[in-house]
Amino acid sequence: MPPEDYYEILGVPRNATPEEIKRAFRRLAKQYHPDVYKGDRKEAERKFRKIAEAYEVLSDPEKRAQYDRFGHVGPEQTVDFGAEGFQRTRAAFEEFFGPSAFEEIFNLFFGEGRRAGTVSRAQRGEDLEYRVRIGLEDAAFGTTVRASLPRYVPCRSCGGSGLAPGTGLKMCSTCQGSGRIEYRQFSMFGTFVNVRTCPECQGVGRVPESPCPSCRGSGRVRERTEISLEIPAGVEDGARLIFRGMGNAGVAGGPAGDLHVVVEIQPHPLFLRQGRDLWVEVPVHYATLVLGGRIRVPTLRGEEEVEVPPGTDPEEVLVLRGWGLPGPQGTGDLKVKLRVVIPKRLGREERRLLQAFTEKLPPPEPPRRPGKANPRP
Ligand SMILES: [Zn+2]
Ligand SMILES: [Zn+2]
Repeated sequence: MPPEDYYEILGVPRNATPEEIKRAFRRLAKQYHPDVYKGDRKEAERKFRKIAEAYEVLSDPEKRAQYDRFGHVGPEQTVDFGAEGFQRTRAAFEEFFGPSAFEEIFNLFFGEGRRAGTVSRAQRGEDLEYRVRIGLEDAAFGTTVRASLPRYVPCRSCGGSGLAPGTGLKMCSTCQGSGRIEYRQFSMFGTFVNVRTCPECQGVGRVPESPCPSCRGSGRVRERTEISLEIPAGVEDGARLIFRGMGNAGVAGGPAGDLHVVVEIQPHPLFLRQGRDLWVEVPVHYATLVLGGRIRVPTLRGEEEVEVPPGTDPEEVLVLRGWGLPGPQGTGDLKVKLRVVIPKRLGREERRLLQAFTEKLPPPEPPRRPGKANPRP
């Protein structure tokens, strides 16, 4: 499965103007808005995430240029669904749907336990995405990738609580402890009272008496951390591996998000991958095909000697069972395509021998239609 294309996600041509990209984003964001979308919530979330990611990259001329050239925004790219990421997507979204609209959709989709009335300040950390490039051998046998990833980790000063040592929580003065704010909306049909989550306390009703100075009350700090990622044997190109709890640390001691690792497999100079099978091309002499013999075939585990039976056609494919890539249905095969080497320069002796040999052979039969006698003049 190839990585999804940002232009395809937004349904715009590669030469789309910034205005067209914005319009496409608006249309799709409306379509998958949780207030409107009737289908599966998880599906809407996945779609919305993709749309937001595509827009975040394509709306930035620098990131877009990089994406156009390399097909991704650098191997170190992390897409952060947290408050600090998604600045352009957020701005565009709020322009279409009003202030705090992004916050709301963000809460609906990604912020479990962030709705008004919940008691805990804790919030789950955001999921992160990380791209790794590995070679075919590593994809075949599995590997460990060391990565240096910028992400939120629990604050050591306060142990993740976000509170200065020896302090607790106090009532939120913005919402008087209710966690909600009412506001009136006037329209031609009358006045409506709307209720929104309090932006000061995120619906908790309480705020820290004195926030931890190291993390400013969030209970987490951004740091570049070294991690090891186990890539399983037989991984596909474009595979998305989910490492639970390895995303951003949660807010105020909430659970950590997940890390999504997208695997990109570099093309191999010798092998072509086709599902679990591998293809390799090996040069052979004409005489080896006629007489049979042994040839040296490169495999993922080094070179192997392989028997070519006498009378092998150049179109025949030699199959080395179980020398492909591992998969859930067993290991694939290595398929050897034979390429006949035609010598370009022959010595006098070689030419004489080949001519003598050819003279001994009956001439090759011209092709005939089956079952029909050749027309006679
Ligand atoms: Zn802290
Ligand atoms: Zn409040």
